[in-house]
Amino acid sequence: MQKKYYQPEFETMPAEEIKKLQDQKLVKQVRYVYDNVKYYRDLMDEKGVSPDDIKSTDDLYKLPFLKKDDLREAYPYGLLATDLHNCVRIQSTSGTTGKRVVAFYTQNDVDMWEECCARALTAAGADDNDVCQVCYGYGLFTGGAGLHGGSHKVGCLTLPMSSGNTDRQIQFMMDLNSTILCCTPSYAAYLGESLREKGYKAEDNKLKAGIFGAEPWTEEMRRDIEKTLGIKAYDIYGLTEISGPGVAFECEEQSGMHINEDHFLAEIIDPETGEVLPLGSKGELVFTSLDKEAFPLLRYRTRDICILTREKCSCGRTFLKMTKPLGRSDDMMIIRGVNVFPSQIEAVLLNNGYAPNYQIVLDRVNNSDTFEINVEMQTEDFPDAPKDITTKEKKLQDAMKAMLGINPKIHLVAPKSIARSEGKAVRVIDNRRRYGITI
Ligand code: ADP
Ligand code: ZN
Repeated sequence: MQKKYYQPEFETMPAEEIKKLQDQKLVKQVRYVYDNVKYYRDLMDEKGVSPDDIKSTDDLYKLPFLKKDDLREAYPYGLLATDLHNCVRIQSTSGTTGKRVVAFYTQNDVDMWEECCARALTAAGADDNDVCQVCYGYGLFTGGAGLHGGSHKVGCLTLPMSSGNTDRQIQFMMDLNSTILCCTPSYAAYLGESLREKGYKAEDNKLKAGIFGAEPWTEEMRRDIEKTLGIKAYDIYGLTEISGPGVAFECEEQSGMHINEDHFLAEIIDPETGEVLPLGSKGELVFTSLDKEAFPLLRYRTRDICILTREKCSCGRTFLKMTKPLGRSDDMMIIRGVNVFPSQIEAVLLNNGYAPNYQIVLDRVNNSDTFEINVEMQTEDFPDAPKDITTKEKKLQDAMKAMLGINPKIHLVAPKSIARSEGKAVRVIDNRRRYGITI
């Protein structure tokens, strides 16, 4: 049966009540973290703040920040707040220089995360009459698992396709009458083109809505996808450290994503000074989990730049809204939905005997990211026979694929042919910016 909200008691809770709920949960969560996570207890002790100093969300600013580097340093168990035997799941972001960020979940954590995804699906109009095709990757990546769980909670008939094999995706979509599509926006665009190439028109499929996230996309791209697939396209935001997709989701207004505030407390800070900024300001998004058991994080700096607003929304939800991420305050790139850091590429080059003289060139062709790396050959290798160069390029490409999970095109170029700059090396040429892609 079609419901407007998955959990109306929270999603439409008056703002003052949400604040009260957050106050209570925060006090508990801080005490829990202090008692169970030595890594964060040390940070609090260092800052001279004790759990007794946190009486409500107004005291949040007193707590120390957590950064991605802390998560790497504490890898793998340093931020775990409960015994491993209480945990039922591990998920992970893509790795950097071999050290991945892993997140742990108890069954309650998984339920909470899946409920957040169920809220997103319900906001997109999904119910137990729907066939929900999930083509986010399954595995350590949170996309597949999160939407899969949400789809079960809503009662959709779930098609756990995972990513890739476009012909099979299309066959199942048409034969099994998929009505909801979950994947990255670039894959949605690709699916749309593939359907068109096979001679299908928008009205030939039964799809009515899509939930697309994990990477930046533009309003133009949304309109394109909506037209080719004949659907309404919704954005969804999340990050593994905080749970996964569903931290925030779009409603029918399509004007920003509602943050699930009963579980996640959001702040905007100045990325340079760490100062908390008022609603409406552009800055770095910081999250504090309010009721996580295995991997609670307090004041986690996402590095995503966005704006938060609390305005009346026509959907009736009272949760804060965040804009799409407008950029990042670190050097992470998102390529085909995968997080990639230049440091990972440098590590592969060094391991394979190359100097770190390289340039990454990104572009978007047919709505899909292209990813090329120009790498300078060592002087002693130059000039090699073209056949040898091709072999070396292939070897380096395989090593990159093993580290990053995605395949770049490698070009070995002559020594000293990549321009040296006076200041910071220009490592990344991101031509996707001309399409409005800012990350
Ligand atoms: P995900 O499964 O969401 O990709 P990761 O933890 O691998 O999770 O990556 C999280 C990062 O992905 C976020 O910090 C943000 O930069 C980016 N991201 C996630 N969702 C979106 C979205 N809807 N729009 C833009 N960027 C997004
Ligand atoms: Zn709304």
